Amino acid sequence: MKTLNVIVPCYNEALVIRETYERLSSVLKTMDDVESTITFINDGSGDETLDILREIGEKDASVGIIGFSRNFGHQAAVTAGINHCTADMAVIIDADLQDPPEIIPDLIRCKEEQEANVVYCVRRKREGEGLFKKLSANLFYRLLNALTEVKFPVDTGDFRLIDAYVIREFNRLNERGKYIRGLISWIGFRQVPFYYERHARFAGETKYPLKRMIKFAMTALLYFSKKPLQVALTLGVLAILVGLVLACWYFFGKLFGFTHAESGFTSTMILIIFFGGVQLLTIGALGQYIGVLFDEIKGRPEYIIKDRINF
Ligand code: UDP
Ligand code: MG
Repeated sequence: MKTLNVIVPCYNEALVIRETYERLSSVLKTMDDVESTITFINDGSGDETLDILREIGEKDASVGIIGFSRNFGHQAAVTAGINHCTADMAVIIDADLQDPPEIIPDLIRCKEEQEANVVYCVRRKREGEGLFKKLSANLFYRLLNALTEVKFPVDTGDFRLIDAYVIREFNRLNERGKYIRGLISWIGFRQVPFYYERHARFAGETKYPLKRMIKFAMTALLYFSKKPLQVALTLGVLAILVGLVLACWYFFGKLFGFTHAESGFTSTMILIIFFGGVQLLTIGALGQYIGVLFDEIKGRPEYIIKDRINF
């Protein structure tokens, strides 16, 4: 019999986690040719999430729980789930029921019919999310594609099915800053889309406020693209060209008397501000990459586990 492990990252999901477990387990029960387990990763929740998970784990031995020592973030939680997965395939799914567990059997069918190693879920529609979130997500996925050499499918989250080959290769990746959906694309093998409608959150609120969304987008950009550094270089070259033209203009202007040095305050200010800005921008871009190097070189673990239940 094939084995399936469902990976569910949870951060302050006390309001939804029971319902998530009920819906997941009733779907998994309908598949009698697959032996399923669920792994909940408690990402340092400050509410009763872990207590509820413990209760569930006591009654149902097929539910494993990994508890972090603090909040390490969504991507670290999913990483821990994949690292601990020993099944033939895994489904990564959010705890908030935005991604319907009911399509898991379809994902498995799709994988088998198309002999795929990855079935990634593409959002045809997103309900219950603000215009800003939809717009920024839309823009982000397209911008990232324009900036990177690996082409990522747009409008997909981490909700997907991956097989043992992909799990094995994922576990060989050494980087600590993880943009999981990008990395899985990068791993390759046969990947096929599955279209679905994303629902509104069952309860509670998003754990991705703007600050985290920006951090997430920066990780994706910095770990998958060197284009910002090339842009910095291009800006530098352009600035030199503009500088040269202006230098000639002022030099010959003075020589032949068609510019007046005294009236140069405005142009000087504009130039100082503009080139000052360009310099700070490029140094800032460089700094971001140095920050990444700094984090990677320290080699700290991505997460620290405090609780292990049913493992
Ligand atoms: N999550 C997590 N750690 C975090 C933030 C979020 O494990 O630091 C989980 C969260 O519980 C949920 C999933 O990641 O299962 C996606 O988060 P959320 O639904 O809040 O994001 P959104 O769908 O609003 O982008
Ligand atoms: Mg959500």
